[in-house]
Amino acid sequence: MAVADHVDLSKFIEGVKRRNPGQTEFAQAVQEVAEDVFDYIKDKEQYHEYQILRRIAEPDRVVSFRVCWEDDKGNIRVQRGWRVQNNNAIGPYKGGIRFHPSVTESVLKFLAFEQTFKNSLTSLPMGGGKGGANFNPKGKSDHEVMRFCQSFMTELYRHVGADVDVPAGDIGVGGREIGYMFGQYKRITNQFTGVLTGKGLEYGGSLIRTEATGYGAVYFLQSMLTHVGKDLVGKKAVVSGSGNVATHAAEKIVQLGGKVLTLSDSEGFIHDPAGIDQAKINWVKDLKNKRRGRISEYVKEFKGATFTGGGARPWAVPCDVALPCATQNKLNGEEAKTLVKNGCIGVSEGANMPTTLEGVHVFKDAKILYAPGKAANAGGVSVSGLEMSQNSARIAWKEEDLQKMLVDIMKGIHDRCAEHGGVAGGGKYIDYVKGANIAGFKKVADAMLAFGVV
Ligand code: NDP
Repeated sequence: MAVADHVDLSKFIEGVKRRNPGQTEFAQAVQEVAEDVFDYIKDKEQYHEYQILRRIAEPDRVVSFRVCWEDDKGNIRVQRGWRVQNNNAIGPYKGGIRFHPSVTESVLKFLAFEQTFKNSLTSLPMGGGKGGANFNPKGKSDHEVMRFCQSFMTELYRHVGADVDVPAGDIGVGGREIGYMFGQYKRITNQFTGVLTGKGLEYGGSLIRTEATGYGAVYFLQSMLTHVGKDLVGKKAVVSGSGNVATHAAEKIVQLGGKVLTLSDSEGFIHDPAGIDQAKINWVKDLKNKRRGRISEYVKEFKGATFTGGGARPWAVPCDVALPCATQNKLNGEEAKTLVKNGCIGVSEGANMPTTLEGVHVFKDAKILYAPGKAANAGGVSVSGLEMSQNSARIAWKEEDLQKMLVDIMKGIHDRCAEHGGVAGGGKYIDYVKGANIAGFKKVADAMLAFGVV
């Protein structure tokens, strides 16, 4: 068939929407990738003939299962769990587990699809997957969380394995939850293998895994700034979220001489004009990880800071750089315009797809430095990949070695995006979205071609 028979982007997107009714997040993620990949493959017949993009946009499998658990009052509760195994062309499925009431099959399919490109970009041998449940850990006791995690793993263990599928943490899943799930896997299978990453250091975890996503997003931002002859010193940064990614992104910005003005959660954001320094970041980490508190409590502790509630987002606070580190679709077209109008020169996404398609187009049209999550937040899964290597070899690398590997990997991702993100007549401008989509696609696509039709 001629190439022209395959190249109608809008028909492709219509097909994705038809086959996945109501799955808006998934369709959005596929569209963002397809916009760039269609252009790249328009004169490359093989990718069309073998329907590569269509195949990547159809998960290898989606497993959905019931998760029953008992709360502290003796009530039986029922949640739905999933594992989406999107693509294992270049390595075992790899991607986090999310526990949040907003989790749906569409959300996990979008995340698994994105993860496929992200993992490819890291240059490590990892396929793409994602999982989770519509379980809300907020307000639950440790024992309730433990019983839920054990029940979740009692089904999940059939579908994962150190060379099959290796989950990690994500929203609502940190060290505590990984510990409970790893313990249950070990108990059921009687095997001590690297089936999960983000493990505790005592039982096979890697140094700097906790910090890696946030740090990596800032390293990526730094590479973009370096490319245009700038750096982070004295730059004002607006950060959203206050979880693992946000607090470590904030920490690295401070270390590199920037000033962090905001943090947020689903209830609103705090603005601290004096800057959120390391001591304040430590206080927030403690608030979130140990006391499981709300970001609004910050203003009681630190004078001069304000809290804006009602789910408000921090994008109207004037800044030089912005790091969305909360969750998907929390920065829309209007907010993107406000950032650009206020002089923001760089956006590095710590979260997955935090910017809507309209927002992405605003950043691209304004030609600011804009790094999509699949490139900017790949530091976390990269160190997870290094955790897998350490587990297989039964060794533990030193922190300084891992730090260097993370820096090198993020620089490598930047350079791969730059290689494919050039724009005709655009001078030094790099379209990082296009670069990430094409570089991520190419490796997976070429592996799939090698396998034939499977
Ligand atoms: P955490 O659970 O540690 O923190 C999530 C943060 O996002 C919290 O501050 C949470 O606030 C906020 N948030 C959640 N839902 C909403 C909402 N609807 N509106 C506004 N804020 C919200 O998760 P992580 O920091 O690990 O993950 C953050 C993002 O980074 C996610 O997109 C995740 O997929 C991505 N990511 C994480 C990686 C990792 O290594 N952890 C790796 C790569 C990407 P609240 O407490 O109110 O819910």
